[in-house]
Amino acid sequence: MFEYYKELKSEHEITFDMNNIDSVDDSTFKAWFAYNKEEFKKICTYAEKSNSVHVGVLLCKLRTALSNQQISFLFGVCETTVGNYIKIAIEDLIDHLVPKFINSDNRTELINHVTPMSKALFDIPIDKTCLIFDATYRLVKKSKNYSGQKQSWSEQKKCHLFVLGPFDATHNDATILKDCFQRYPSEMSIIHENDVILVDRGFRDVIQFLTEHKGVKVHCPGLGQLNTLDANLSRFVTKCRWIVEQVFARLKMKFKIFAIPAHNSTLIHDYQALLIAFALLNLFHQPILSDRINEDVAVLMKSRLHIPNQLQSIVEKFNLSKVRAAFLQIEYVTLDNVENNQQLCFPHLTLEDLYSISLGPYQIQNAISYYAEHQNEGIFLVSKFQPDARHRTAAIRYTDFNITIQDPILIKAYMKSRYRGGKHHHIFVLFDKALTGRNSIKEYFCTCESGARTVGCCSHIMTIIWYLGYGQYHEISTPNPGICDVSITIPKEKPQPIQTEN
Ligand SMILES: [Zn+2]
Repeated sequence: MFEYYKELKSEHEITFDMNNIDSVDDSTFKAWFAYNKEEFKKICTYAEKSNSVHVGVLLCKLRTALSNQQISFLFGVCETTVGNYIKIAIEDLIDHLVPKFINSDNRTELINHVTPMSKALFDIPIDKTCLIFDATYRLVKKSKNYSGQKQSWSEQKKCHLFVLGPFDATHNDATILKDCFQRYPSEMSIIHENDVILVDRGFRDVIQFLTEHKGVKVHCPGLGQLNTLDANLSRFVTKCRWIVEQVFARLKMKFKIFAIPAHNSTLIHDYQALLIAFALLNLFHQPILSDRINEDVAVLMKSRLHIPNQLQSIVEKFNLSKVRAAFLQIEYVTLDNVENNQQLCFPHLTLEDLYSISLGPYQIQNAISYYAEHQNEGIFLVSKFQPDARHRTAAIRYTDFNITIQDPILIKAYMKSRYRGGKHHHIFVLFDKALTGRNSIKEYFCTCESGARTVGCCSHIMTIIWYLGYGQYHEISTPNPGICDVSITIPKEKPQPIQTEN
């Protein structure tokens, strides 16, 4: 085999000559090695025992997830040599790169990474920091003794990563975090009293330990049907925890090897490679900021924390979720809704208007996915509140609920839950026909778990507002349009009709 490569090398040019990288243009180089040539040279300065060929082979492996056999062809060496090069580069970078760029024990650096968003939302003093904890799985293939590896890692708003673990997949997030305080006392000592910790519901069993034994302030999204204040506080947490998904998306996009299950035989190297990848992300990547105009949004969110959801009070008092008689049904279809629009008079909105309602991009992106789901059914059901004078709901006076509105129009819509098939949420939007743009959207409420929030809105509400005020007037490219045609859908039995009152 080696003779073959020797021959190949002498007869043809090998694809990648790491000692002569100037022969490759920068974008091709980046496509194969995840970084441009300047960045590559910088990475090599941390290699003390390995050379640019070793580092190049490792980066190519992480970037492309090709087999060692395939990589051997590109570098003109045999397969065993590829394995050795990767091992040499990993050992070297673990010793000389990783300690410099992850799990830093420099608290000042950690404090400097706190963003204006988390500072404003959680009132973080200048000598305190804000940390987000999360755990993720690494799937392993080809193992008779199947067990997912679970790595715990925490990271700070501006993508300053800590990586701890890995732990057995059988442990939950709370158990892992509690164990980290005992197992890694030196790493965890960077956390001081009154620091702010943002966790998700998976950590709820460790919250008491954190607050009582570690003296930190923990924020976690609430469970179940939330009142407006809890729904708003939950939004504060998700607004900052959004970064977690971003970091994983970055990792998998940059290094394809982490987007596929790990090989059982090379698990130890796989974990070390993950540390190197995270160190590189910390070294080169720009901070992920949670908002384009984050300080304004943070101030706006803070100012709305205690705003009650008046429309919820109206809906509950008059039982509008169940009342059908007072509403005029308007069926939206994929094409031609001119007549419906004339009947509904919903305002035209811009993307900026939508953003100032959702206070973040997530709900707007979700709206497009929800729309795609509904579009397949060819229908979008909206109804307009138009009670007969004799109906008891005709007694609704918005001023009784502290809502100032000139020309009110209340609409109700149905949406399917994304997670629980068949369960419907009721969405209510109250707008002022006398006004235009963002100002016309007065109140909104949804019967889902976080639908009462007044800091931003849930994705269901955004879908309705997005579609009626923006989506239907713009070319909408739905994500993966062909995906529903790939597999056969067996129709479900019709769900029981929703209980209604006339
Ligand atoms: Zn909702």
